[in-house]
Amino acid sequence: MKKGLIVILLFLISLACKVEKPSVQYADYIEDQEDTTEIEMVDLPSIPNRLEYQATNTQLIDLLHTKLEINLDWELQQLNGIATLQIKPYFYEQDKVILDAKNFEIHDVKLIKGTDKSDLKYFYNGLELLIKLDTVYDREQAFFIEIAYTAKPTERIVGGSEVIESDQGLYFINHDGSNEYKPTQVWTQGETEANSYWFPTVDSPNERTTQEMYITVDQKFTTLSNGELIYSKFNTDSTRTDYWKLDQPHAPYLFMFAVGEFEIYEDSWEGMEVSYYMEPRYAPYARNIFGATPEMLTFFSELYGLKYVWPKYAQIVVRDYVSGAMENTTASLFYEELNVDSRDLVDYNYEKIIAHELAHQWFGNLVTCESWSNLTLNEGFANYAEYLWYNHKYGSFEAELHNMDELEQYLDESLEKQVDLIRYFYDDKEDMFDSHSYAKGGLILNMLRDYVGDEAFFESLNRYLIKYIY
Ligand SMILES: [Zn+2]
Repeated sequence: MKKGLIVILLFLISLACKVEKPSVQYADYIEDQEDTTEIEMVDLPSIPNRLEYQATNTQLIDLLHTKLEINLDWELQQLNGIATLQIKPYFYEQDKVILDAKNFEIHDVKLIKGTDKSDLKYFYNGLELLIKLDTVYDREQAFFIEIAYTAKPTERIVGGSEVIESDQGLYFINHDGSNEYKPTQVWTQGETEANSYWFPTVDSPNERTTQEMYITVDQKFTTLSNGELIYSKFNTDSTRTDYWKLDQPHAPYLFMFAVGEFEIYEDSWEGMEVSYYMEPRYAPYARNIFGATPEMLTFFSELYGLKYVWPKYAQIVVRDYVSGAMENTTASLFYEELNVDSRDLVDYNYEKIIAHELAHQWFGNLVTCESWSNLTLNEGFANYAEYLWYNHKYGSFEAELHNMDELEQYLDESLEKQVDLIRYFYDDKEDMFDSHSYAKGGLILNMLRDYVGDEAFFESLNRYLIKYIY
């Protein structure tokens, strides 16, 4: 993710963080319900207090595959979904599953065995969905659960914590078409843990799942999601279902979809699809804006010693985005500042942010920070990729100028805040998105490169990628 509007985002989040999240106890919840028989009481771990140790999420279950069938209710700004999840115990036997699922209405939860489906007991507190399994499963036994739900990202949880706009995961833009100057769009923003506002998942960076997404929209809309578009099926009710699939596992916060009236500029790199999704007005300039992408793919593939592994690379520009850009796997999303024409580009090009999001496809998406405490393993590397690109394309003067700017950013922040680069004590995970994780992280990499020399430095990057791939 790239800063930009993120300063505003952090401010909003800092306001929201003043509301303490309550400790969630299913025992309390169940007491208020009528049908409480046969269910054992289960305490969920309490949500950390301020400046408590921020531990990595404990993996009780492993989410292997996520299949989503979704459609949109534009009027109510809701998403109707059926999620089919393939799960197995991570190590120890499990008789229940707890999923992140925020602001949903749960319709039913079923266990799928072959062609049979049976109802499972579940409890839902507005943030997490606890599902009682039919039996105890061990780590060799994967099972399938189907959850029918409606996601209501713009509605607030009754009795829960404040839900702020910049954390709502799923955004409807000009949903009723009442603004004639703004296109109608839907897009998502998962980082840090906001994708669980639109599908049930284990919303943690140390989870990995493969993915299928069936998105049903009005035929006038284009869709984009992770992986490849396998097919589009035209339905009799003037809708169309696009089927997207990604066979390689990635973290749930990197899931995305976007819907709108976009034109697609088809570029390519070594036979692979490279595409730019733009509003029709800016589509003629797509190549001017994003045209360095194929050269960057070659550059980073060679530099990291690992060819880009994903099946395509799309970039999309949307309206009213809540940050600068986001490196969703195979489908980076950018804010509307990239809606420019060739005259704008005389003054400024966007290669810095384009290189940043592309580098994340290696550092962030292929190898992912275990927890937000280690965020610099994503962001320091992506910021350093900006330097590497400038040095390659424009020479050392431009690259050093970039580093000087990075140093200034960090020193500015250091007047107010001095913390460890990797740190396990913080108020809120969003506090990690600062100039320590980004600018200083990149500069530290540059320093390490100077210490060990180019050959060892780039060999170590390659070893890190290969050892921890997926
Ligand atoms: Zn980033």
